[in-house]
Amino acid sequence: MVVGAGPMGGYAADIISSAGWRVALIEEHRNIGVPVQCAGLVTPRIFEIVDKRLTVVNSLRGAEIYSPKGRELIVDGRETKAVVLDRAAFDSEIARDALLHGATSLLGSTFVNAEKKGRGLELDVQTPDRMVKLNCRILIGADGIRSNVSKCFKLPRAESIVKGFEAELVEVDCDRRFAKIFTGNDVAPGFFAWIIPTGEGGARVGLCVARGSAYHYFNALFEKGESARFLKKSRTVSFVAGAIPFGLLSRTVEDHVMVVGDAACQAKASTGGGIYTGLVASKICADTAILALEADDFSKKFLSRYHRNWKKAIGRELKRGLHLHRLCRDLTDKQMEEVFKLLDNDEILEMVSETGDITFPSSIGWHLLRKEPRFMKFLTPSLKALFK
Ligand SMILES: Cc1cc2nc3c(=O)[nH]c(=O)nc-3n(C[C@H](O)[C@H](O)[C@H](O)COP(=O)(O)OP(=O)(O)OC[C@H]3O[C@@H](n4cnc5c(N)ncnc54)[C@H](O)[C@@H]3O)c2cc1C
Repeated sequence: MVVGAGPMGGYAADIISSAGWRVALIEEHRNIGVPVQCAGLVTPRIFEIVDKRLTVVNSLRGAEIYSPKGRELIVDGRETKAVVLDRAAFDSEIARDALLHGATSLLGSTFVNAEKKGRGLELDVQTPDRMVKLNCRILIGADGIRSNVSKCFKLPRAESIVKGFEAELVEVDCDRRFAKIFTGNDVAPGFFAWIIPTGEGGARVGLCVARGSAYHYFNALFEKGESARFLKKSRTVSFVAGAIPFGLLSRTVEDHVMVVGDAACQAKASTGGGIYTGLVASKICADTAILALEADDFSKKFLSRYHRNWKKAIGRELKRGLHLHRLCRDLTDKQMEEVFKLLDNDEILEMVSETGDITFPSSIGWHLLRKEPRFMKFLTPSLKALFK
């Protein structure tokens, strides 16, 4: 049984059903993919996992990054470095594959509770018309930041969250090949704001914040600072509110249970990107479920190979992201200006343009420190240790 038809749940259900096992995908909304709670920015590397290129609405080659005082740095990869997804279509296309391979869907149905019964679990699920009891041998919680599966089995929760607010707009004055990133404690405290062009004058404009109201800072993007000049004529198509959980969880399995994606805090705290890392973990989760079904062993001990293996695959990137997030979250605007000043150097920008990769953003840290040792002074002792 898979709870949550986001990308991680849909992908896990697809792999398990393709291997010939019976899977049910439980989703509380009646339509898969909505409401969208994501900017949809990923690297094309994602298509090596799920080939959903048809859901791309725009391709980006770089970013224009603004310091709190408006110093502009241009990172130009000169070729496609990232793509913007139609996230609703992306999610529903992945789930469609699972259904084509034999999974069943329970839409408009909410997972409420589970308890051990016989050799498996008994679930309480609220369907559109009544509460039903369903039995399964293995339960995958891909139910996002509010994960009820995680709560039910007392799995650890996020160390921190950032709250986000975003709108899809038209008539945004921007170059469709470049994302814009805005920083500063008056702009997006503890994280950053963005304009991500979707093409033809459209863009997703939003931010995440570690402190304060995301909605308040979102509104300010239109009124003051560097962002306002690009948004003068813009008009809103839709709004998105959401949050991203961060942490490196010590436990993501229980007897008969695994959690994946945002339910397991698998997004990178450096950028907020959770789709790539979550899909990597989702494959490991689904493969483990298949092994457990074949071995008829659903013990925590057996399933713990999922926990070990996803940590091996993405744990280092998540750990570095967390350190970087803690560091950036606490920088003053003055310190940020100093960082921008050091970055504002042709050689460094060229290097960032060449090696920058939003899938593995921590790799840039190594290159930066080698090129400009003065960055060392911004690192906390624990982060210095990581880069040694
Ligand atoms: C503002 C914002 C911008 C972002 N931008 C990006 C970006 O540009 N790039 C990127 O890579 N990542 C981005 N992310 C992060 C990314 O959206 C998440 O990491 C990703 O969606 C996690 O996928 P998931 O399948 O784990 O969970 P979700 O996508 O949250 O899916 C969980 C699903 O479970 C369902 N569900 C929840 N509880 C229940 C229940 N009890 N019963 C049944 N169903 C349930 C929900 O309805 C939902 O469909 C962003 C996040 C936010 C908030």
